[in-house]
Amino acid sequence: MNQTPLRSFFVVLALLLNVRLFAQNAQPQLQVVPWNGHKAATSLTFDDGDPVHLDVVIPDLNKRHLHATFFLIANKLDRKDDWRQVLKAGHEIGNHTLDHLHAKELDASQENAQVVGAQNVLQKEFGVPIYSFAYPFSEASPGLKGWVSKTVFAARGGAPEMTFPSDKTIDWFNLPAKTTMSNYPFSTYQGWIDEDLSAGDWLVWMIHGVEGTAWGWQPVPLKVLDQMLDYLQSKDIWVGTFTEVASYLRAWKTFEAATITPKGTDRIYSWTVPDHCPTNVTFLVKALPGGPTFELWQNGQKILPDSQGRYRVSFNAAMLTLRP
Ligand SMILES: [Zn+2]
Repeated sequence: MNQTPLRSFFVVLALLLNVRLFAQNAQPQLQVVPWNGHKAATSLTFDDGDPVHLDVVIPDLNKRHLHATFFLIANKLDRKDDWRQVLKAGHEIGNHTLDHLHAKELDASQENAQVVGAQNVLQKEFGVPIYSFAYPFSEASPGLKGWVSKTVFAARGGAPEMTFPSDKTIDWFNLPAKTTMSNYPFSTYQGWIDEDLSAGDWLVWMIHGVEGTAWGWQPVPLKVLDQMLDYLQSKDIWVGTFTEVASYLRAWKTFEAATITPKGTDRIYSWTVPDHCPTNVTFLVKALPGGPTFELWQNGQKILPDSQGRYRVSFNAAMLTLRP
């Protein structure tokens, strides 16, 4: 009986040593390539379905081969055929509630209707899954957020910051964004882009009116918008829709936390794909410098590296095998 505590001590010690050995066995050998191979990321998001977006902004973006996200108010959908063309051109439509009301005006059933009801209207109208949401007036109340987190993949809030990939606590249902204002000179936006680039962040733009709008809030002068787009395109920044960049970052963070299990000489990375994730999310990985060489396999297929030694991995596969 007296030996029991001593034995327990050795059992615990043995377990600890095992855990250490296991952890050493399962050291990661891969790193995610940031932002699809670019220095930083940015997403252009436009709110409220302003007709000036259809008439001025989207033709401009199309000419530049840039894709953006348009958050539409489901009970205020005009020119649906034009919005269908916008989807066909590769842009994203997101959920901006049914009626664009202040969060504090809503009771529990209205919160549900504003989020889930709007989601149903938009998905039925456009025949595509809607992955993203933006809070009207950036008011991410707990009641709205509860429904948002059960309905979409990612949501935009209004904190005037950027998302930093090393951040341990990214709130996928209240991602920050910077808001454009009529009186901001181009140099303000240039500063945002420079900051994004130097930190390797994700800069989300919240844009409302643009010059020529009939009713859009804080219209941005066209000249300034074009200067900003020119500047973005002159830099090594990934311009992706809100959901494209959110998916890449979610995949990145999830892969970094993947379980790594040795199996014979293989190592199996496994992870869980979050709810409402788009179906074709991929991300780039490469070997950590100085590590051993190996092959990458997914779904029984060998993945070949590109000329820079980067492998494009499926996030939806939820598993990756490293084989020496
Ligand atoms: Zn709005």
